[in-house]
Amino acid sequence: MDQSQLNKPDMSLELLERLKLRYPKPLSALNWKNPWQLLVATVLSAQCTDKQVNKVTPEFFSLWPDAASLSRADPGQVQKVIRPTGFFRAKASNLTKTAFIVADKFKGQVPASMDELLSLPGVARKTANIVLYNAFGLNQGIAVDTHVRRLSLRLGLTGSSNPAVIERNLMTLFPRQHWGEINHFMVLFGREICRARKPSCSACFLADICPSRQT
Ligand code: SF4
Repeated sequence: MDQSQLNKPDMSLELLERLKLRYPKPLSALNWKNPWQLLVATVLSAQCTDKQVNKVTPEFFSLWPDAASLSRADPGQVQKVIRPTGFFRAKASNLTKTAFIVADKFKGQVPASMDELLSLPGVARKTANIVLYNAFGLNQGIAVDTHVRRLSLRLGLTGSSNPAVIERNLMTLFPRQHWGEINHFMVLFGREICRARKPSCSACFLADICPSRQT
């Protein structure tokens, strides 16, 4: 059968099988040891590389190991420590407000529900999905970041560039037990082969089912 003739659900399952083979142990590149650290690192990763985030988090977590300590932090010092991650004023403001809410309302524990996570400043569905899956093993949705957005469009899995619409489209195409892994698979694939500026179509193991392959 000509693989390019697969319908969208069959194509997405084929895609998933190949990604699983290529990346048998998909993990985030962020360093973290508990749900609070993952939440902080994910907020810091907005518009920033995981590598850069990993450079600032050791100092961050040694100064403020939990939500309670961060809620009492000097805002200027927080900004100084996270400055290399970019958008440091907004990130510092969101993180200190989130720290106060987690320390006070959630007794120091990162909440394990979508609605509660979305109530935290600076936390949208992408961050919430990442925390729910990686820290708690919950598949509530699919984290749509820049790689997932780009690859979903190139692979014809969505016709929209809106992350909320893309997430809904992907959730209908992939079995729920794989939702959390989809983000890791696409980040790894997007960095290795289907890069933003120059995709390596000639070396791509999805070329025969990809509508955007370049010859
Ligand atoms: S064939 Fe090219 S555009 Fe399609 S997924 Fe592979 S690298 Fe990306």
